[in-house]
Amino acid sequence: MQRRLVLILSSLVLLTAAAALWLPGWIENRLNLTIAHQPWPMSPQAQILHQSLVVADLHADTTLWDRDLLVRSDRGHVDVPRLREGNIAVQVFSAVTRSPVGQDYHSNSSEGLDAITLLALAQAWPPRTWTSLYQRALFQADKLHDTAARAPEQLQVITDRSELRQLLSRRQAGMRTVGAVLGIEGAHALEGRLDRIDDLYQAGFRIVGLQHFFDNRLGGSLHGESRGGLTDFGRQAVDALLARDMIIDLAHSSEQVVRDVLAHTDRPLLISHSGFYGHCPGPRNISDDLMRAVAAQGGLIGVGFWEAAICDPSPDGIAAAIRYGIQLVGAEHIALGSDFDGAVTTPFDATEMAAVTHALIEAGVSHSNIRRVMGGNLIEFLLNTLPTV
Ligand SMILES: [Zn+2]
Repeated sequence: MQRRLVLILSSLVLLTAAAALWLPGWIENRLNLTIAHQPWPMSPQAQILHQSLVVADLHADTTLWDRDLLVRSDRGHVDVPRLREGNIAVQVFSAVTRSPVGQDYHSNSSEGLDAITLLALAQAWPPRTWTSLYQRALFQADKLHDTAARAPEQLQVITDRSELRQLLSRRQAGMRTVGAVLGIEGAHALEGRLDRIDDLYQAGFRIVGLQHFFDNRLGGSLHGESRGGLTDFGRQAVDALLARDMIIDLAHSSEQVVRDVLAHTDRPLLISHSGFYGHCPGPRNISDDLMRAVAAQGGLIGVGFWEAAICDPSPDGIAAAIRYGIQLVGAEHIALGSDFDGAVTTPFDATEMAAVTHALIEAGVSHSNIRRVMGGNLIEFLLNTLPTV
């Protein structure tokens, strides 16, 4: 009898271990997809130009997934070897802390089942992350710092202007170190406490998206139920973030929140991953007028790589959205906002970033504007907005 119990228990332990090994990959393989394709067209001229660029991308959710970023994977879109192969110099990594199960771009409740809780359990994250959004943000930041500490010549976390300058000169000297900037997708990770802004700053976060898929204490989401504006708490949080020289990202905020933040501060703002409503009408994108207003205040708009943002998820489709943006707000306000590893399907992973350079040349965008859009603008933005410490 006792032997049978031991047998059952050890089988259970083995099954659980097998599930823990297999489940994260199974989940990610269903969410972070790349469209099957032959290698995208690439002229020798595009390749040479791409290798000469400082490429930077405003949004990847890679810290959410259970992978060692130093090891090349066939899952998802981003890891350090693939960033290096795609000649990406700076990648913003955004920590997601709550995301409704069955989310859509139209309307999501702030209550209900949360996918990140399930993901935290499935990936065996530490118990402190099971119930706390704040702890989930810290855990994802820790993972990135730990990766950089294990291979500082491959990955460097950038938290101020001098670190960014250091990275740029390392790369100019021929090193392929990737710079990582930490962002947070939804300030519900504060759990209603302004004093946590200091703690998130200490953890290395420099970009804070005010909302994600649902309304939070700071204000309405673009995909929430209220479409409300910035709340009093939201205004206090914006003030505290700006006092810390943290950068505000409005990629998932309601149009009223975008208007309220623009009215509240004259600091430059980010729309890290999005598309232009006039180019690709849909609930994920904000109006051209508001995009113009963000740009007029010195803001930067990251063009997404997935269907809801640009309608045609291909290198040509990305180039068409970028061209539209250049005509609408000027080349100096456009950047890349792939949303790699953000549970979206993209036309390529980080290795094929040069396909965008090729498509931009084909679309007739000038080399100097390609240099800006592919990363020059984001580097300049960070050099002007990161803390000076
Ligand atoms: Zn997002």
